[in-house]
Amino acid sequence: MNYEPVIGLEVHAQLLTRTKCFCACSTEFGASPNSNTCPVCLGLPGALPVLNREVVRLAVRAALALGCHINRISQFARKNYFYPDLPKGYQISQYDKPISEHGAIAIKVNGTAKRVGITRLHIEEDAGKSLHDGFPDSSEKSYIDLNRSGVPLVEIVSEPDLRSTTEAYAYLSKLKAILETTEVCNCDMEKGNLRCDANVSVRPAGSSEFGTRTELKNLNSFRFLQRAMEYEILRQVEILESGGHIVQETRLWNADEGKSYSMRSKEEAHDYRYFPEPDLLPLVVEDAFVEETLKTMPELPDAKKDRLIEQYGIPEGDADWLASSRTFSEFFEETVRICKKPRPALNWLKGELTAALNNTSLGLQESKISPAHIAELVGLIEGGVISGKMGKVVFEEMFATGKFPRKIVEEKNLVQISDVTALEKIAREVAASSPENVAKYRGGRTGNLAWFVGQVMKATKGQANPQLVNEVVKKVLEEN
Ligand code: ADP
Ligand code: MG
Ligand code: ZN
Repeated sequence: MNYEPVIGLEVHAQLLTRTKCFCACSTEFGASPNSNTCPVCLGLPGALPVLNREVVRLAVRAALALGCHINRISQFARKNYFYPDLPKGYQISQYDKPISEHGAIAIKVNGTAKRVGITRLHIEEDAGKSLHDGFPDSSEKSYIDLNRSGVPLVEIVSEPDLRSTTEAYAYLSKLKAILETTEVCNCDMEKGNLRCDANVSVRPAGSSEFGTRTELKNLNSFRFLQRAMEYEILRQVEILESGGHIVQETRLWNADEGKSYSMRSKEEAHDYRYFPEPDLLPLVVEDAFVEETLKTMPELPDAKKDRLIEQYGIPEGDADWLASSRTFSEFFEETVRICKKPRPALNWLKGELTAALNNTSLGLQESKISPAHIAELVGLIEGGVISGKMGKVVFEEMFATGKFPRKIVEEKNLVQISDVTALEKIAREVAASSPENVAKYRGGRTGNLAWFVGQVMKATKGQANPQLVNEVVKKVLEEN
């Protein structure tokens, strides 16, 4: 039998605020353990939460960017559960009255466009962190760091609209692009500020009912997400094929083993004993606030993609790639503003620059390269001062040192020989040293041209302008 997967994603995104959701503690990543804490986020009895206005602004911005309806009145709720790193014994979240609902994300897979529904986007606080390992001398101890306790998140829940791991991948990529371009979240999965749980079920192809789902946690990269879902789909199909049934449960992905393990049977909403948070008033979002947020909304990835195609005449795939990152697209546009050459600028960005960033694990903003660097490099090549090949040498040095291309070209004496008289002289010398090849060429073996070109390039240590060498050699061979 053929099976069809059904997938819904729950994404937690950390909002880019300076301070926490309900207190004034810093959200800084990597501070010494428990240093960013106060009575509120330590959960001390009697401490009272105060909602951070910036949290609401960012949540509304994200929700509008995702096409959600903003509920003018929403309500915080207590979600009760025990966890060692959850000091209050409950998490402040939103339940039946979330701040926003009913959005959608447009994705495109294999040329087919599709809208994936967003059920809801709500505000909640993060829990702290338990550390169990990495302490060789005290392996029997666990540690708790509450710096993350109370850091603001939005949870974005999709409808079960995804029908393949590829669609899930496309959905998460687009969501990430939107959260990044709106500067709502850093979306660094490794640092945990974007986390994704995947709900997966399978059903016989053609069936209209959903199968029982499992929830996969601990998917802290796109690759893990993909692999964990593929593993889970196969696991469920095998169970159904052998006559078993799927147990609704939460499973934990183990990346090292490439397997998932049952973590706990799935808790139901009523297990959490949700009730309205008595320490916080209902949240009222006024029309003016929504309008202001709409007015200051940056260009979203889909709109940006269309504009990049229109304005620079670049291919759709490249425009898509650029539009998914605000840093890259702004870098690109600034480069083109200086050098006026979109295609070469794009090629350096998606080729050498991306490769160099990957190799050094640097972000674009941490690298020593600015749009002015790439623009100058493009100018030198397009102006015929250096060849494309030399350009790569210049790029390497420029990436490593941050020196400008013109300076590197001078220092390394890389200037391309574009002097016709000089090249003709060399071409004549090559011809004189190999009369038999000249004769062959003149006898009709025109394929010999490449050999002559190669010899001239060699004589100039690769510094000649290849285009010009081609013309000069031809002229020399064809004269009497
Ligand atoms: P819970 O708190 O139980 O995880 P949520 O409403 O937060 O519930 O999220 C449920 C997620 O599971 C949603 O993303 C939804 O699309 C998805 N989902 C629901 N039913 C199925 C199913 N049968 N197969 C796959 N995913 C499902
Ligand atoms: Mg959930
Ligand atoms: Zn605090």
